[in-house]
Amino acid sequence: MKNIYFIGLPGCGKTTLGKTLAQQLGIPFLDLDSEIEALAGMPIPKIFSGYGEPFFRDLESRALHSAAQKGGQLVATGGGCIMRAENARCMRESGVVVFIDRPVSHILKDIHIQHRPLLQDGPQKLLDLSAQRRDTYLQNAHFVYQNEGTPTQAAEDLALFCAVGTRGDFAVIGWPIGHSLSPAIHNGVFESLGLPHRYGAIAVPPGKLDIFIAGVRAFGLQGFNVTIPHKQDIMPFLDDIQQDAADCGAVNTVALRSGRLCGTNTDMEGLNQVLQKNGSGFAGRRILLLGAGGVARAIAFKACREKAASIQILARDVQKCRQVALPLHPFAHTPVHCGGFTSQELVAAAQNCDVLIHCTPLGMQGTQQDFESLDFLEALPKTALVCDLVYNPPKTTLLQRAEQLGLTHLNGLGMLIYQALLADEFFLQQTLTKEPLFDTLYQTLNNKQEKTT
Ligand code: NAP
Repeated sequence: MKNIYFIGLPGCGKTTLGKTLAQQLGIPFLDLDSEIEALAGMPIPKIFSGYGEPFFRDLESRALHSAAQKGGQLVATGGGCIMRAENARCMRESGVVVFIDRPVSHILKDIHIQHRPLLQDGPQKLLDLSAQRRDTYLQNAHFVYQNEGTPTQAAEDLALFCAVGTRGDFAVIGWPIGHSLSPAIHNGVFESLGLPHRYGAIAVPPGKLDIFIAGVRAFGLQGFNVTIPHKQDIMPFLDDIQQDAADCGAVNTVALRSGRLCGTNTDMEGLNQVLQKNGSGFAGRRILLLGAGGVARAIAFKACREKAASIQILARDVQKCRQVALPLHPFAHTPVHCGGFTSQELVAAAQNCDVLIHCTPLGMQGTQQDFESLDFLEALPKTALVCDLVYNPPKTTLLQRAEQLGLTHLNGLGMLIYQALLADEFFLQQTLTKEPLFDTLYQTLNNKQEKTT
């Protein structure tokens, strides 16, 4: 792992924030000033008064170069360290440089000047230092953090930025993300292929995609998957979006290629492949979607592309169904019907359905909410396929009832694995032999889930 260097004016928060973050991230923290004192065997004010600033700067360069050789640490540097060109080069080459940009007026409120050797001449000195150094800070920083809020806010934001550098080469982002099976799937694929990559999970709160993306670019994260609630909001941050993903308005996979962020959507094809494996698919089928969120939007689009016979979209808010239906207008060959979640509409829709796809979190572990009635399943033709995109628990009440009625049914695990395999092809830019990988992962994860439920 690369070093993370915090730079900025004295009092901007480098040391306090650095210590907290290093502990959170589980990496060593190094305060360069303490290293210098250890090298000299005396406190910094004594080095300055006894030997002068040039001597101090030489020690500082030595301490920095030794930190650079170790790697994997969060290093709080002195405010003047990066002013030497060789130090700036050393930091940029051995790590990611973060400028903690706190306005001088805020710093003066936060610090005790008498504890800062460089500021003994009073507050004007800090303004002079800012004028001398700010351009160099800006020129050398991979990321500039505007530290204008509370320390808690700064710690949360910087923890997110730094997390990108500590979780591996690829990751899944979402909020919340703790439950995600994606790391197990992708690490399983990389292991099977004999690749050394690591895939982690990063919790990105709503409204913080800008900080995450800055981390992606600074640390060079090779790729990431996107889940709830970011599939639409990620789009303005990307340089290139494949046509299908742009058309359906949702991206679930992003690769960093030669500095450009390229997005695609593998959910749609993932489900298509799994339906085909189960003797169905979209072509010529009457599709019923329950829910009108991000995944329903992508599936509706794919179903039209694949020439479904018809699509019915039912959700508790009919207006949202209409929003999903709107971009489907050009697909004149597939009639689209929108409706509410009432039992009457559910029964009527079920009568005209070959493939029912459940796209809401109802019945998912942790949601506490489930269908009020499942009687509409009785209205399905006996040949219908019931597909629940929820995979935890493996058999939701919807699937239990479908099973009792003798209907073919499947949960969301297959889609989850297939979209991940397609994402890995996008990340690695190579075609994988997906079937054996799919079968092994499906068996492993299904067994694990059945044991825990
Ligand atoms: P989303 O954008 O948040 O949409 C959720 C949909 O469910 C919305 O239509 C929402 O209605 C509806 N909904 C939520 N709570 C409801 C309730 N109590 N009663 C009725 N409707 C309710 O989420 P998404 O990305 O589309 O994902 C939907 C589901 O699919 C999730 O369970 C997710 O885990 C699953 N999924 C699985 C896979 C897989 O690979 N297996 C992939 C993607 C998604 P409102 O808009 O009115 O809130």
